[in-house]
Amino acid sequence: MQQVSDAIFRLGRRFHNFYLIVEGGRATVVDAGGARELPLLEAALTAEGLSLDDVEALLITHGHTDHIGFARRAAELGVAVKVHEDEAPFIRDKSAGTQVRPTEVPFWRPRAIVFMVEMMRAGAHRDYRFDDFETVTDGEELDIPGRPRVVATPGHTAGHASYLFKGHRALCSGDALVTDSVIWPGRGPQIMPTIFHADEALARESARTLSSLPVDLLLPGHGEPWRGPIADAVAAATA
Ligand SMILES: [Zn+2]
Repeated sequence: MQQVSDAIFRLGRRFHNFYLIVEGGRATVVDAGGARELPLLEAALTAEGLSLDDVEALLITHGHTDHIGFARRAAELGVAVKVHEDEAPFIRDKSAGTQVRPTEVPFWRPRAIVFMVEMMRAGAHRDYRFDDFETVTDGEELDIPGRPRVVATPGHTAGHASYLFKGHRALCSGDALVTDSVIWPGRGPQIMPTIFHADEALARESARTLSSLPVDLLLPGHGEPWRGPIADAVAAATA
């Protein structure tokens, strides 16, 4: 667990992240890592004197298996899971979206191998589709800790959403804007490699729309958090 700010914690492993936001003894979680990673969240909550019962919502950025991992289990345990309405079909049914085709992953890259092993250990190679969630819409401000606003960022997947925590000047960008491609070397703000996107052109367009947000803490789905004006991050990523 890495404490990113007074209220925000980064969980996950080297190559993939999910986030815990704590405010007033209550919590919001963004993304659900791999299926075997619920204990990481529980440990982080315990360290803050909290439990799963204090999680008001688990927000999902998109339906890839390294982001919805333990969401189904969390829902079974009573956590309210929220998903952008356009992503809902993919959360319910794998065939409604595009998964990364393993044959396209460049396994000769050492980082790709490390990433894939990390995903296997996290349980992210197994699919946990489910339908026990609520949907949210673009622009909606959620009355949960951090008061996140839903920012539709389609392209990586059809209904990918980012979450703006305005009071913290932070954006959980999922895979709309990352700081590590997990395959190619080179850190810093970037768009994920082509093979990971449903619609790369749309993903780039969505990333550009993030420029105007009041954000100077980028919390990506992959890679280290990044500090600075988000317009700079977007410019670097889409240059
Ligand atoms: Zn991802």
